[in-house]
Formats: sequence, structure tokens, C-alpha cells
Amino acid sequence: MEYFLTDQQKTIRDIARGITEEKIIPARAELDEKEEFPWEIIKEIARADLFRVFIPEQYDGLGGGILDLCLAIEELSRGCCGVSISYAAVALGSIPILKFGSEEQKQKYLPQIASGQRLAAFGLTESSAGSDASAMKTLAVSDGTSYLLNGTKQFISNGGEAEIYTVIAMTNPSKGSRGASAFIVEKDTPGFTFGKKEKKMGIRASSTRELVFHNCRIPKENLIGKEGVGFIVTLKTLDQSRPGVAAQGVGIAQGALEEAVAYARQRVQFGQPISSFQAIQHMLADMAIQIEAARALVYAVARTIDSGATNFSEESAMAKVFAGDMAMRVTTDAVQILGGPGYMRDYPAEKMMRDAKIIQIYEGTNQILRNDIISHVYKRKGKRE
Ligand SMILES: Cc1cc2nc3c(=O)[nH]c(=O)nc-3n(C[C@H](O)[C@H](O)[C@H](O)COP(=O)(O)OP(=O)(O)OC[C@H]3O[C@@H](n4cnc5c(N)ncnc54)[C@H](O)[C@@H]3O)c2cc1C
Repeated sequence: MEYFLTDQQKTIRDIARGITEEKIIPARAELDEKEEFPWEIIKEIARADLFRVFIPEQYDGLGGGILDLCLAIEELSRGCCGVSISYAAVALGSIPILKFGSEEQKQKYLPQIASGQRLAAFGLTESSAGSDASAMKTLAVSDGTSYLLNGTKQFISNGGEAEIYTVIAMTNPSKGSRGASAFIVEKDTPGFTFGKKEKKMGIRASSTRELVFHNCRIPKENLIGKEGVGFIVTLKTLDQSRPGVAAQGVGIAQGALEEAVAYARQRVQFGQPISSFQAIQHMLADMAIQIEAARALVYAVARTIDSGATNFSEESAMAKVFAGDMAMRVTTDAVQILGGPGYMRDYPAEKMMRDAKIIQIYEGTNQILRNDIISHVYKRKGKRE
């Protein structure tokens, strides 16, 4: 399908595709097996200026938008979603600064992120506050010049590897969801350490780790926006980042389709390649249809955001849900088409299936996002906007 990308967007896609072919695909099985953070590839991504794509030009970026980011994420995910989440989580951690940060915060942090010199991460989830973020216990107490941070964040992508963390904490628990605030916390701040590193089903090249704050003092200049807007920062950040999660789903599924087609054409049973059986052909056709439908939705939502629209929460959630469910179905079918070898680690299909599962879980589970979507649908009585 012709998506009418700009020359810059085509270049971003081609550069990310090149890194996937040359660096990610040859290394992905080993990174997955060893559960190793892909530092060499991250450095390559930085050298190729891909961390600049979502940063405005005045902060050393390329001035692209969410579509530019999605194109890079999709291509990297085609190779390995463990690598692509390590890249995408930097954007997730940067969005609160980009959208709500002060001029001083932007000037200080965004050029470091754009160059890839320092990675970012986003810390919201806690052991008792997952889907229900308002149950959060991490506290930030002000003494007028600084905040004292105490609490533990769980399952944080890029945890331990990133140097710039945007963290949501309660500044006034009695105000409930209006009592949270967003902060920038730098890695070497005294009182900030890293806890359990998770051993995961998929995206095993990525780091998922606890952030532990024990009397961690952060200057008041590190408050993002003002006190009390932490959940608004969170919701608006996730609205912007979810198309990127959806793009991960599109990329993984694209990789799985390519593996399934290549295998079906060379595997001979009953005297002919299995690609000649209509049952296989229809599975492959359905996979291709679903991928293209998801891609079209992701690009359309990304373009809506880049157009300066202010209300795209529903569409952003729809893209993430649709692409996540699609990626799970397509990768499962890819394993099926490969038969026994599909179940073995010798082929990448089983890894793709393990990786795809996370798309349905993080940045709002697909059930929670369906709850959000139906509230929008009811509000407009099911009608088209
Ligand atoms: C690999 C990985 C990376 C992650 N990276 C980050 C990160 O970088 N930063 C960060 O802050 N967080 C991160 N997370 C956390 C992630 O966003 C949460 O795990 C997710 O939001 C779900 O929260 P939970 O795990 O506590 O599940 P729970 O909220 O306990 O949900 C359990 C189940 O109940 C369902 N459920 C809960 N409430 C409802 C409801 N009202 N209606 C219907 N169903 C419901 C859920 O959909 C789910 O199926 C990451 C998680 C993982 C696994």
C-alpha cells in the first residue's frame, strides 16, 4: 500500500531496516538466549541518528513526529522486539519532558537523549498499582527546595540501563488521582537504586527492572509541569506512545509472515511445497490482510497525532489493541505453518510468538483499553465522529 511517506520518513524506515538486517537479525537469538541488553545495537541506532527522529530540531532532533517514530519501531521490531522496546522506551520516557517539561528541562535533557548518549525510561507501575495506577504508593514529599522520594516501581523497561527516568509519584495522596506529580530522576542520584531484574517470556533482550527510591532527594527543578498533574502527564504520554506499541505489533507480525512464507515455499510434503496447499495459502493471505489493516490504522493514528489534534485517546488505544491482538494471532499462525520446527528455537517464529504477547499487556492491557474505548463509543452513542 502507498502510504505517501515523506523523503525523511522513507530514509528513517530504510535506515532502521538496514540495522535490522545487518545487526539485529544475526544477533537476536543469542540476545534472547542470554537475556542480554543490546548495547552494541543501541549504539548503532544512536550512530544512525534514530534517537533524533522524535525530538524537535531546536533540541538537536530531526523534528519528526509519532509517525517517524512508529516507522523506526516497526522496522526494528521486524527483527527483534526486545531491541525495539529498548528503543521505544526511550521515547516513552522522553514524552513527559517533550510535552510537559520546562524550557530548562528540555534544553538539559533532550539533546542528550537525541544523541543517544543517555537512554530514558518511564516509571509508573508498582506491585500494587498496575492497571489501577491510582493505587500507587511511591511518595514525593516537598521541603520547599527539594522532594524526598520513597517507594518502588516495578517492571520498568530500560530499568538499570537508562540514565534519565520520568517517574510518577504521589505528592498529595489525600487528593487521589489529582495528588500525583511527575519527576525527572537521574540514575546516579543518591537513594536511587535498582531492584529485581525480571526473567521474561519474551522481549528478553530488553531490561525490565525495579526502580527503588529510598530517601532519594531530587531538586524541585526536576518536577515536570506542576504538582498534581502527574496522572494527566501519564494519560497524555501513553496516548502518544501507544501507536509505537502498536507499531511493535505490526513489525513482529511482518517478520513472522516473512518467515512463514519462506518456510512454506521450501517445505515439501506429499510431493509438493506446502505453500501450494490452499489451507496454508489462506492462512498466509489472512496474515497479510491483518498486518496491512493494522499498519494502516497505526499510520493514520500517528498522522492524526502529528497533525496537532488534541483528542486522540480512543484511536490511539484502538491501534494498540488491534495491532496487539493481530500480532498474537499472526505469530501463532506462523508457528503453525512451520509445524514442529515452528516450536523449536532453531527458527525465529517461536520467539516472535513469545515477544508478541507483551503487546497485549503493557502500556494498558487490552482489556483496560477496551474499557476506555467503550466509554468513548457510548459517549458518542456509537455514532461516527
Ligand atoms: C515486560 C514489561 C515491561 C513493562 N514496562 C513498563 C514501563 O516501562 N513502565 C511502567 O510504568 N510499566 C511497565 N510495565 C507494566 C505494565 O504496563 C503493567 O504490567 C500493565 O499495565 C498491567 O498491570 P499489572 O501487570 O499490574 O496487571 P493487573 O492490573 O493486575 O491486571 C491483571 C489482569 O486483570 C485485568 N484487569 C484489571 N483491571 C481490570 C478491569 N477494570 N477490567 C477488566 N480487566 C481488568 C488486566 O487486563 C489483566 O488481564 C511493563 C510490564 C511488562 C510485563
